[in-house]
Amino acid sequence: MIGRKKKAYVREVDVDYFTDANLAVQLSVLEEDKVRGNDETEIGYGDVSVRAMATIFKKIRFETHENIGSGPIYLPEEELHTSSAWISLNKELSEFGHDRLEEGLIGTSQALKHIAPLFVMCDPSDVYVVPHVKAAHNEKPTIFFYDRYPGGIGLSEKIYSGIEEILKQTKQMVKNCQCSDGCPSCIGTDTASIHSKNDVVKLLDLFLKAAV
Ligand SMILES: [Zn+2]
Repeated sequence: MIGRKKKAYVREVDVDYFTDANLAVQLSVLEEDKVRGNDETEIGYGDVSVRAMATIFKKIRFETHENIGSGPIYLPEEELHTSSAWISLNKELSEFGHDRLEEGLIGTSQALKHIAPLFVMCDPSDVYVVPHVKAAHNEKPTIFFYDRYPGGIGLSEKIYSGIEEILKQTKQMVKNCQCSDGCPSCIGTDTASIHSKNDVVKLLDLFLKAAV
């Protein structure tokens, strides 16, 4: 952009919402630094390459996390090399079909997105949570957490170490939520199924088997 100057005008506004973006994320594991787990689950940590493209922005109300508006975003794809922690399920989940598993993982990720930043004491936008029904590196249902800064800033490593506590607190939060089928304060509203909330609790239980 040499020789071209642009001005951005900023003004302070009083609003009761923040904006968040839905990202289409392609994530590949470059190097596995740590792996632990058992027959049921695998917990990993390492370097990843993330190619993310913002698809829509959402206006989210502060208190309730309701989605109060959205629209398309046109931004180039961003590529990031960073660190990531992930949890994968080792066993076939015959009771879930592909779509139900996908919805369950999306809801689980939304719930983890509320708790993980509290646990590592960062801003919710510093760490991103991405579900993959079949992760490229191990072909298993997986949820990735990655630092949204080049090279990583240590958040994923803390998540790797404390994942059991994060899963427990997340399960508690979802179960204690007053809603019956899932709402913006717990598992989000990106999942439409009436099974969603139960499925999220089931999946969290399965992931938690790593802790035993
Ligand atoms: Zn809820």
